[in-house]
Amino acid sequence: MSVAEKIKPITVESEFRICTVCGYDMGFHVSFQKTAKKKMKLILICPQCGARFDPGWTIDLPE
Ligand SMILES: [Zn+2]
Repeated sequence: MSVAEKIKPITVESEFRICTVCGYDMGFHVSFQKTAKKKMKLILICPQCGARFDPGWTIDLPE
């Protein structure tokens, strides 16, 4: 699976643990993408197939 594949938007309800692409069920790696000067977006990455998911979570960077 290509790392360049599009990041899939997801909605997390009680838990997001199982990859919807390959079925891996032990959770995710994370990466962070800078979206603005003081903000980053958190991206979840499946450790098995490399699929990337965007739960819509953002992080405020410290001053
Ligand atoms: Zn996967």
